[in-house]
Amino acid sequence: MKEKVYAGIETGGSKFVCAVGTGPDDLVTSQFATTSPDETIGKAIDFIKDHSRLKQIAAVGVASFGPLDLDQGSPTYGYITTTPKDSWSNIDIYGKIRSRLEVPVAIDTDVNGASLGEQVWGAAKGLDTFIYLTIGTGIGGGGMTNGRLMHGLLHPEMGHMRIPHDWQKDPYGGCCPFHGDCLEGLASGRAMGLRWGQSPENLPLDHPSWEIEAGYLALAVANLICIMSPQRIVIGGGVMKNPSLMSAVRRKADHLLNGYVRSEAITKDIDRYVVSPVLGYLAGVVGALELAKGTDPDRRSSPAQG
Ligand code: ZN
Repeated sequence: MKEKVYAGIETGGSKFVCAVGTGPDDLVTSQFATTSPDETIGKAIDFIKDHSRLKQIAAVGVASFGPLDLDQGSPTYGYITTTPKDSWSNIDIYGKIRSRLEVPVAIDTDVNGASLGEQVWGAAKGLDTFIYLTIGTGIGGGGMTNGRLMHGLLHPEMGHMRIPHDWQKDPYGGCCPFHGDCLEGLASGRAMGLRWGQSPENLPLDHPSWEIEAGYLALAVANLICIMSPQRIVIGGGVMKNPSLMSAVRRKADHLLNGYVRSEAITKDIDRYVVSPVLGYLAGVVGALELAKGTDPDRRSSPAQG
């Protein structure tokens, strides 16, 4: 009998990461650039089919960039909807994968996928209410409330929360095509690049941009604490690679909250409350694998999907 494993696909605007296995210590991965939908999805399916000759792939999980339609009653369930990414608008990513693989397929957002990966294997292990934020080219947020991945009307769009913008300190108008100076418009890697004329990885570590960036991210963190009362906040993404940014975000968030949220997790131990992801670039695809496990009746004890 063939060994039973799961497959995960993390779809991103610039690359796809695929994996077959059972967890981060038992994983074969492959990644390739995101080109046209048919070509890129085709490569992901070929990867899974190749592995299905040797192993029994019980289910497939997809953690996808979006926005996604995740309303199970909707005729466009599993579609990527209004993305500005060329040729990926209104793409039935769920259907295209499902129709070519004869196993259950589960789909969720890329950030919810990464959240689930971190909850099972990483920085949010064992928690039932937490937030995962990713600060990269764009800003995304997801996580769990009471043990279920966050959904609701659509899915959270934490990157587009409105935050105070001090025009004197930061005259940059923001780059979100919908809102201008929302969180993503002001604090994404794209915003940093446009504001300063160089991408975040090229900005010197003592550049004034980092103080501004930490201020915006701290506002987001303070808002999310007030709204969700998370047990932890995990912040990943390329912009967070500056080693001093995380500690500045913690310090400023603590200052903004001003002792009002009376938990020692925040007032005394914020270094272990606002944290980096543990799984790094594998969080999304490992989370996709966990989404797949969630469809398997033998594995129903794994964290629930919302
Ligand atoms: Zn926005």
